[in-house]
Amino acid sequence: MSFLDPHEIVGKPTDLNAMSGILDIIKRSERFGRAKIQSKRMSDFMGDILDQDEYYFDAVNPRIERIYERVKTCADWLRFRHYIDHDETRLTAANFCNHPLLCQCCAIRRGGLLLQKHHQNIEQVISENPRLKAFMLTITVANGENLSERYEHLKSSFKRLQANRRRFIGNPDRYAFTEFAKIEGAVFSYEIPKTKDGSQWNPHIHMLILCENPPDVGFVNFDKDGNYLPEKSSGLRDEWYRITGDSFMIDCQNNGKGKLIDMCMEVMKYAVKFSDQEPSDTWELFRCLNGLQLFGSFGVLRGVKIPKNLLDEPLSGAYYEYTLKYFSGGVYELHSYDDCTQDYETPSRIIESDVESLSISECEASMVAKYASYGSKFGTIETPTYKHVFFTFSMLIADYPYLVAPLPSHEKSRATIRGVNSASGHDTVDPPDC
Ligand SMILES: [Zn+2]
Repeated sequence: MSFLDPHEIVGKPTDLNAMSGILDIIKRSERFGRAKIQSKRMSDFMGDILDQDEYYFDAVNPRIERIYERVKTCADWLRFRHYIDHDETRLTAANFCNHPLLCQCCAIRRGGLLLQKHHQNIEQVISENPRLKAFMLTITVANGENLSERYEHLKSSFKRLQANRRRFIGNPDRYAFTEFAKIEGAVFSYEIPKTKDGSQWNPHIHMLILCENPPDVGFVNFDKDGNYLPEKSSGLRDEWYRITGDSFMIDCQNNGKGKLIDMCMEVMKYAVKFSDQEPSDTWELFRCLNGLQLFGSFGVLRGVKIPKNLLDEPLSGAYYEYTLKYFSGGVYELHSYDDCTQDYETPSRIIESDVESLSISECEASMVAKYASYGSKFGTIETPTYKHVFFTFSMLIADYPYLVAPLPSHEKSRATIRGVNSASGHDTVDPPDC
């Protein structure tokens, strides 16, 4: 692995095109880096399990060993393409383990893809049906120590609620009204964290619902001895209590005014909160829930599938390709770089060699906006000029020298830079500890 003198890379006339891609890749690799640390905790735990005799003779052991190997090496390398004309980065190849219940790299990837697809779909449904508004609905059953039993209880109760809705919508004269029938479409996911003291499981379902008027959540009343009072109870909470027998915990939020993207994110967060839980709990969740459907949709939002492929769709046109390899401590380093722009006609690329004569283009403006999001880290950009972009980028390189793309040898002769002092001056720099 060799590192480049930053002056060489930033001096390349076309680098203005490449920079925004590098920034995106840095951001994404940082997210994967954090996820890798969690995945490693998990694979270390699985390794310990495999070392224990009681599991060693377990019939499922060979399978566990394979899963362990895959989780251990998951996302060890990532290949991104930065498409110049679209100014978009795409993850086009990686070695994912495809066990999102165990591995945070796969979980964040799946969550991201789900978010993309559903957010788009929900926005479209709302634009076609402007009377519909989005709300967040959370339904819960009582906590308990037995994960499988609690999950089954929540799942079967939720199915009954859905069946009541379907029946009423199908034949309102024959079947009883349910507040749930006000929901015209929903996406939902199961979340089963442990309680704060770690003694019990706390299963619930997050739903993004679309409706004209939200369900009346109502209330459930008990007398002083704790006996249920049906005549003094009403709404969805009452319906839920009659179904579950142990919980009336239902919450409806946002009054239809919350940001749609935030609501989507709340639902798409995968069923497991890795960072808050012990690997032993993650392992138990995996053993109980692997292969089960923990995400779904119904009504007007029915039909959006969980993506099996965790990669992005490739785009057409010229691109730079970066292959990143996992180093350690949450850090990726650049393994290889390909300039695949030569074979494409790319009129939007900046080909002017004298950097100081460049005017502010749309491309620069969008890039400055991206740099500005790094404002606190790299200083504020007040004037969107090429020089400032250069300056910010040279600071960026000082912080992330391991991500600087090696310059193809035939380009080196063109690599000059003006107007940037040698503040960074790194030749070779070790990746920072995380
Ligand atoms: Zn994975």
